Amino acid sequence: PKYVFDFAEGGRDMADLLGGKGANLAEMARMGLPVPPGFTVTTEACRVYLETGEPPSELAHQISKHLAALERAAGRRLGQVDDPLLVSVRSGARFSMPGMMETILDIGLNDLSVLGLGRTPERERFAWDSYRRLVQMFGSTVMGVDSTWFEDALAGIKKQHHAADDTQVDTSDLIRLVETYKDLILRVTGEEFPQEPAEQLRRAVLAVFTSWNGERARLYRHREHIPHDLGTAVNIQTMVFGNLGPDSGSGVAFTRDPATGRPGIYGDYLPNAQGEDVVAGIRNAVPLQELENLDPGSFGRLRDCMRQLEAHYRDLCDIEFTIERGTLWMLQTRVGKRTSQAAFAIAGQLVDEGVISPQEALGRVDGEGLARLMFPRFDSSGTRDVLARGIPASPGAAVGAVVFDSAEAVRRAADGEKVVLVRQETTPDDLPGMIAAEAVLTSRGGKTSHAAVVARGMGKVCVCGAEELTVDPHERLFSTSSTTVREGTVVSVDGSEGVVFLGAAPLVDSPVMRYFEAGGPPPGQEAQQVVRDVHRLVGQADEARRMEVRANADTPEDAARARRFGAQGIGLCRTEHMFLGDRRPLVEAMILAHDDQEREAALAALLPLQRQDFTGILEAMDGLPVTIRLLDPPLHEFLPDLTELSVRLARLDALGRRPDPHETELLAAVTRMHEENPMLGLRGVRLGLVVPGLVAMQVRAVAEAVVARTRAGGDPRAEIMVPLVDAVEELRLVGEEVARVLQEVSVETGVALDCPVGTMIELPRAALTAGRIAQDAQFFSFGTNDLTQTTWGFSRDDVEAAFFSAYLDKGIFRSSPFETIDREGVGRLVEIAVAEGRAARPGLKIGVCGEHGGDPESVHFFHDAGLDYVSCSPFRVPIARLEAGRAAL
Ligand code: PEP
Ligand code: MG
Repeated sequence: PKYVFDFAEGGRDMADLLGGKGANLAEMARMGLPVPPGFTVTTEACRVYLETGEPPSELAHQISKHLAALERAAGRRLGQVDDPLLVSVRSGARFSMPGMMETILDIGLNDLSVLGLGRTPERERFAWDSYRRLVQMFGSTVMGVDSTWFEDALAGIKKQHHAADDTQVDTSDLIRLVETYKDLILRVTGEEFPQEPAEQLRRAVLAVFTSWNGERARLYRHREHIPHDLGTAVNIQTMVFGNLGPDSGSGVAFTRDPATGRPGIYGDYLPNAQGEDVVAGIRNAVPLQELENLDPGSFGRLRDCMRQLEAHYRDLCDIEFTIERGTLWMLQTRVGKRTSQAAFAIAGQLVDEGVISPQEALGRVDGEGLARLMFPRFDSSGTRDVLARGIPASPGAAVGAVVFDSAEAVRRAADGEKVVLVRQETTPDDLPGMIAAEAVLTSRGGKTSHAAVVARGMGKVCVCGAEELTVDPHERLFSTSSTTVREGTVVSVDGSEGVVFLGAAPLVDSPVMRYFEAGGPPPGQEAQQVVRDVHRLVGQADEARRMEVRANADTPEDAARARRFGAQGIGLCRTEHMFLGDRRPLVEAMILAHDDQEREAALAALLPLQRQDFTGILEAMDGLPVTIRLLDPPLHEFLPDLTELSVRLARLDALGRRPDPHETELLAAVTRMHEENPMLGLRGVRLGLVVPGLVAMQVRAVAEAVVARTRAGGDPRAEIMVPLVDAVEELRLVGEEVARVLQEVSVETGVALDCPVGTMIELPRAALTAGRIAQDAQFFSFGTNDLTQTTWGFSRDDVEAAFFSAYLDKGIFRSSPFETIDREGVGRLVEIAVAEGRAARPGLKIGVCGEHGGDPESVHFFHDAGLDYVSCSPFRVPIARLEAGRAAL
């Protein structure tokens, strides 16, 4: 197979094979933009290497052929003594993984070619500095020497000269440093630093392959749900230098502001520097606009390239570029990461500009982004103790205790503490801490620094480049001109405004949340832009979607909120929540009743309370369906804990006191009803079948509530749902009782009652016999929580804490099956039940009311499976609306 593609041979549609970077470099080359020539080694070659431990046998030959072509075109050779060609070797996977894998620059330098590179006096220092960087990078990433040893050697030289930064180290020191580095490598590895450029190149490529499985790369993929078996491509590209003097430099740029979405060119520029220096945030960059004064020619060319790229990709692009002695080179582009706010703003703008269709715009935003826009913000009206201001790199509000290293962040977060990671600048090694932290705060680096890019990608709050802060990780504190803040102190980080406060600042609802809370009327001109953007796109989703969105709600307040958020009914009203609190003694009395009479008295006391609950909910949802589920959970949930009760009684006994007779009786009852696996025990429909009068009481409460609402002139649409059905016979028996009570109430009141009776499908047996069950069910609702529990055999209450993180690490699944529906297994049961249910009863209405109903990926599955609606918690309703619309595109 062909493992190597010249830039001229690729294109953006080849990202699976060439990685994102390689595919886009090829695309830019094809567009005629100034890209330094090069070629890409495919992800396929990487996969072979990772699987077998050996590169494919043809690879070496293919690389040398492409290298020879590159050398011919350049008129220079790698390692050539007088004017050497140098190349960079960079990773580039299908999905962007900023800084998580290796890069090796200046391949081709050795003891001889360094002299050629530094052939003029003004380039001598530059050449030795480049060689120094190569030996250091190659020594650590390829040959495995601990990078701190190189850093210590450099720091030693700087100390001798009282040099503040690397630029003050002179040529003779650099020459000495190269020797020191080479000695170090020989001592540690027993091997010389390779002088042969082809050997350098070969080993650098393999090192990039290997870095795919590095610890931080794995962690990043885990967090971002990127599959572990894709492998990375490797890009080999002619080096260009941004550090050749004041007419050179490097930068990063966006075609729109990635934080807010505002149009215009944004970015950072660092004169006389290599690209790595910008991303590492090692020196503070200047805003890109300054380039217009520094080098108007290059600025103009850059602006033209960016216009072309946006028009071509029809989206926000980010780019990396280098200017070498006044010549502009494009080193990378991609459709850029952006904040949620920017995603909504840009999608709207591009429609207005006639660049994309409204349908495409819907594809450019997502439910998780919308969820982030609904999070609370800091209240700006109160007085606040501002510690520092920086660059608002990733929006949101976070409060936490400051910590100064990744390990401490992880440690404290594991104990449940909320932390803010404070660093001078972050490196890929800080990734675990960034994941653990609520927010990231740095004193250096711009909008495109590592901290900013990674935080934005993860949706984490970030303020960077807060220059007033002096961060001292050794003393575990940071200070400003007036304050010192030690580890553990609580601060508030406002990533939308770029401000840090001392203490926990009060929070208020976000404008988007206020918009939904108000019932989502069209926002006026005075409304914030983000509200108008959200309104527009959610409206588009409503037009596009086929599925309805309902809510899970058990109180009139939740029902009313759900309705304001756009719910088209209640898909699950869990009646057990109405049996808790001060009603618990009544339930206890029902369970412990000695005879029918006592039980009937307890049920009679519960009836008016339930009727009142249902009346309120039906009123809040007037005109919309309300699916009321009969009592579901195990009865012992309403009784005292067996162990606690036994201990209490035993203690009284030991003290020689006589226990309360009620408690003794309670203990006997609790002991009698105790189950080892209550989730698989007496619950759901089973309860209704063994506790006489329970179903009748609940159905009567529903029926009387419907009557009350009808008489009040309302339009109540109650539906009755039976939980945890395994067999059609269970449903049939309960169904008969439901019909009898409805009929009874109808006769008593003279009000016609038309309440559909349906079932939950939440056990594998029910899914597999759905055809039979559908004969007695007027609707289905998938209870995917229990269906996941019983299909996998995972206790929904225990396993997530017990072993899911190990399962995620081992790649057994990419996300918890309780969060995102397992298409292969649980999803298959859903498909079978839909097909067989509808075959038995054409037009059968089918929904889902498990947690998955509000999960974006799962919503797409339910759409594909042909469901009529999803039902989720009220706060997820807008997200489900948006995703149901996206699923229908
Ligand atoms: C379910 O099992 O998915 C469901 C909605 O019911 P519950 O979560 O109340 O068991
Ligand atoms: Mg259930």
